[in-house]
Amino acid sequence: MPSSYDQLVAQLKRAHTLGTVADLLGWDEQVHLPPDSADVRAMQHAVMAQTQHVAAADPFIGQLLGELEANEPCSAVAPTPADQAVVLRHARRDYDRATKLPADFVAEKAAHSSRAFHAWADAKQRADFSTYAPFLEKHLALARREAELLGWGDRPYDYAIDRHDPGLTAASITALFTELKRGLLPLVTAIRASKVQADPHLFRAFPVESQRVFLREVTERLGFNYRRGRIDVSLHPFCSGTGADIRMTTRFDVDNPLDSLFSSIHETGHGMYEQGLPLAHLGTALGQAVGMAVHESQSRLWENQVARGRAFWRFFEPRLRALFPAQLAAISSDALYLAVNAVEPTLIRVDADEVHYNLHILLRFELEQQLFSGALVVRDLPAAWNALCAEMLGQTPKTDREGVLQDVHWSSGGFGYFPSYCLGNMMAAQLWSAVRRALPGLEEDFARGDFSPLLGWLRDNIHAHGRRFDTLELVRRVTGAELSPQPLLAYLRERYGGLYLK
Ligand code: ZN
Repeated sequence: MPSSYDQLVAQLKRAHTLGTVADLLGWDEQVHLPPDSADVRAMQHAVMAQTQHVAAADPFIGQLLGELEANEPCSAVAPTPADQAVVLRHARRDYDRATKLPADFVAEKAAHSSRAFHAWADAKQRADFSTYAPFLEKHLALARREAELLGWGDRPYDYAIDRHDPGLTAASITALFTELKRGLLPLVTAIRASKVQADPHLFRAFPVESQRVFLREVTERLGFNYRRGRIDVSLHPFCSGTGADIRMTTRFDVDNPLDSLFSSIHETGHGMYEQGLPLAHLGTALGQAVGMAVHESQSRLWENQVARGRAFWRFFEPRLRALFPAQLAAISSDALYLAVNAVEPTLIRVDADEVHYNLHILLRFELEQQLFSGALVVRDLPAAWNALCAEMLGQTPKTDREGVLQDVHWSSGGFGYFPSYCLGNMMAAQLWSAVRRALPGLEEDFARGDFSPLLGWLRDNIHAHGRRFDTLELVRRVTGAELSPQPLLAYLRERYGGLYLK
């Protein structure tokens, strides 16, 4: 007879497995789904969400949790009482969340997300926010209702943030972002005034097939395990799945090979985090990511600190030149490196350079707070968006496609997610500073094409812990300091000051 703890783990793994099936439906929807099959997919999503919800809210889980919380748990599969306590703490939180949300609410939200995604894609293509606005309004109403059902009715935006990054609040993020903005704006202004400029039209006619070869070689050498994952093409790059089966996507542009390369490296960082979580514990908190900010710190660290650095290019530039000899013949190493680190304001978040990127997030964070507080209504969102763009980026979108409709997140009700990108940037820089202290020869390793010491350090210090520590505690333990924007500001000044402010 298995112990109560082992029975609980079996239940959690079953609910988790159903979740991975739902993830595959979502991946397929963005990679392969024929255009007129959206309605049947919405139904499939609704049924899966309901089934998942029934599994996660199974009263048997509640019964087992009650027994385990009252007695010292014993187990054949879990290593220590401390590990079991981590699993129980998160299982209780997830169970309470599942049982407080009625099944019909969950199904309604899933079906609405699927329809809203297609409404967004259509509205974006036509650059017309008005047809999508009712879907966004309903998403806001659903988000408020969900917060209320879970006891966060007076703080619905904090609930949205907590879903992605437990322990963080709008107030704590505001404090970090205010400090970041204060340090960032003078750097942005100085770089914009610089005479040094990267050439935006440097790259022409890079065949997709060779781009595919290069990005496969790069991502494999960084450490992505293709026996437990793959990469396909979608409109908006993403990474889904778990360490047992990761699905990444990218997109190709023959005149912009760096776009698919860096977005793929970014998703690879996410994928390697998932692949580094303890496989035996998949489905329990010991095998789960901490939250989205930590996830983003992993993708950003590889994308920016590593792949935009000199040492990375010392190793990969010869290979890139071998694959594209004619296209790169007239481009010097210095011009290539400057293009990799091009700084140029853009209206599009996913195209933004590292220096401007966080301003795009500050803008979205500000607007989300206003939408949740009621200070801003959905129909006024495009105008508010454009006004903030002018203020922060010095440019105004000509259409909603390059403005408020550019991101997919809100179409699935993903409020409170954007701050994670900026928090992840801060954390990546703080981790980078810590790992360079711990492993002084790191960049010589990169120049030889060996990225395993960095991956090993991340495996030991971040991945191996699953959700043992919350975001802020993890940062404190690994870097010896509180999460702060200062390491990010120092990193940006060093890398971009060195290129643009000589
Ligand atoms: Zn990401």
